[in-house]
Amino acid sequence: MKVVQTRDDFARVRAGLAAPIGLVPTMGALHAGHRALLDAARAECATVVTTNFVNPLQFGPSEDLARYPRTLDADLALCADAGVDVVWAPSVTDVYPTGGGSSITVSPGPLGDILEGTVRPGHFAGVLTVVAKFFNLVRPDRGYFGEKDYQQLAVIRRMVDELDMGLSVVGVPTVREDDGLALSSRNRYLSDGERAQAVALSRALFTGAAASAAGAKAVLAAATAQLAAAPGIAVDYLELRGADLGETPEHGPARLLIAARLGSTRLIDNVPVEL
Ligand code: AMP
Repeated sequence: MKVVQTRDDFARVRAGLAAPIGLVPTMGALHAGHRALLDAARAECATVVTTNFVNPLQFGPSEDLARYPRTLDADLALCADAGVDVVWAPSVTDVYPTGGGSSITVSPGPLGDILEGTVRPGHFAGVLTVVAKFFNLVRPDRGYFGEKDYQQLAVIRRMVDELDMGLSVVGVPTVREDDGLALSSRNRYLSDGERAQAVALSRALFTGAAASAAGAKAVLAAATAQLAAAPGIAVDYLELRGADLGETPEHGPARLLIAARLGSTRLIDNVPVEL
């Protein structure tokens, strides 16, 4: 496994890589969810490249950029175990040579105005800009992203499609703890009490999905009732949308999505619903 930091070192390594190349972009603090992405890439690609970069551009001014967990040594051990070929862990100036960011950014369009976009203005422009840069620098055949960040997966798919980026975007199902909590690097912020309360998110989603035979209203009512019984949770949104995040369909594939705060920690989750 090669570990590189600067963009010049990465470019040298890139020149010798066999196709197809699979790219798994991450912000580090790796867990079994990231591992599932690496495993999917390993199964399908001759070369697996992962980036390990906490992207300042996608954090709002009052968000957790400064305290975001950084665990590079453990991350490298997980990557080696997963059979990764190249870990690229650049510094901020390796990614943004002018230091602060990018004067040109990629706009997520209307998909960026809903759900997370209502609470985190600018977030998806930051995500798309760094993902576009990594696509241009790594030139992968396939990019792997988690359904855990369902709206992110949707805006990346749309960027690749509408800007003709010419790679395949692969979505990987969410990996969960035994009690249902979706794995997240941010789960480590939770106190023991908050960790116990956090199960309410996935419980509400699964309860909602189980009511799907009775229609969209029943799904939302069941999830809302489950949440109402859970203490300590401040819900930013609970929404049922089409699988493409458009209007809720009468029938067919849909997605139930939630964002909520427990103390100072903000968690998101979503599940498929068949209406
Ligand atoms: P992050 O490091 O949080 O930016 O996540 C990097 C990638 O891992 C993204 O594509 C996420 O959607 C994905 N990911 C994070 N948590 C999970 C999970 N629990 N299951 C599957 N994929 C995940």
